[in-house]
Amino acid sequence: MRWKGRRQSSNIEDRRGARSPFPRRMGRGVPIRLPGGRSGGGLSLSTIIILVVLFFGLRAIGIDPLEMLAEGPQSGGPTVERSAANDEMRRFVGVVLAETEDVWHDIFSAQGETYQEPVLVLFGGQVGSACGFASSASGPFYCPGDRKVYLDLDFFDELARRFGAAGDFAQAYVVAHEVGHHVQNLIGILPRFNEMRRGMSQAEANAMSVRVELQADCFAGIWAYYTAQKGLLERGDVEEALNAANQIGDDTLQRRTQGHVVPESFNHGTSEQRKTWFARGLESGRVTDCDTFNGTL
Ligand SMILES: [Zn+2]
Repeated sequence: MRWKGRRQSSNIEDRRGARSPFPRRMGRGVPIRLPGGRSGGGLSLSTIIILVVLFFGLRAIGIDPLEMLAEGPQSGGPTVERSAANDEMRRFVGVVLAETEDVWHDIFSAQGETYQEPVLVLFGGQVGSACGFASSASGPFYCPGDRKVYLDLDFFDELARRFGAAGDFAQAYVVAHEVGHHVQNLIGILPRFNEMRRGMSQAEANAMSVRVELQADCFAGIWAYYTAQKGLLERGDVEEALNAANQIGDDTLQRRTQGHVVPESFNHGTSEQRKTWFARGLESGRVTDCDTFNGTL
């Protein structure tokens, strides 16, 4: 992507190197490090108990961890110190975020609406949000409660090395997808989803989640459509995004991590679906072509 020299968003909140991931207002006891990460083995019983207690504890204080919309691949691992490469990455993310602002401002104002820009929080290791706290292992996520996208730049390394999705446009797709969730929040889709899934079985909630996620992919495609129109795409960029969509499809991920697929547990969509919906947004650039809630996917 031809991004150098372009405007950077002023909506980046850099929390890398922050002493505590917990916002002061949460002020509840000592920070707890979420177990998990890249270790290959299963969770120990005590870990599961901690997670369950944590889960219901958070719910009891009104934070729903499920609302964080954490993305598929479980990343994690050691946090690298801020390096030159990392700062280059930060600038890149700043430009991609700015480009999403421009695109969505135009689309909203064409409808007589005003687009409210999200904040993108860069963090390392773990982070506190209005949706609770998360570790890098959750992958990038969007929190509707504070309208912020959370991203650990190390995830891009994981994306390239572990998930076979290298390239700057694969990274741009990830950012644009999270911003897609923000758009869904603004237009009322996320609030409705979070309302509805309280009365759903896990399988139903997963199926609905797939529709939400595929729409975010389609919205990322819309962003790519306008980026292409501005002449910012380089040869191979679209393929990079499609490859990323393919590599982080639920079936591909499950086949890689557990050797078999469990379709009822899919919550982001198959590789084929993710590619299809990204491509649909990319082809037309129209929000009306991103209706994943009616018809087959
Ligand atoms: Zn998502």
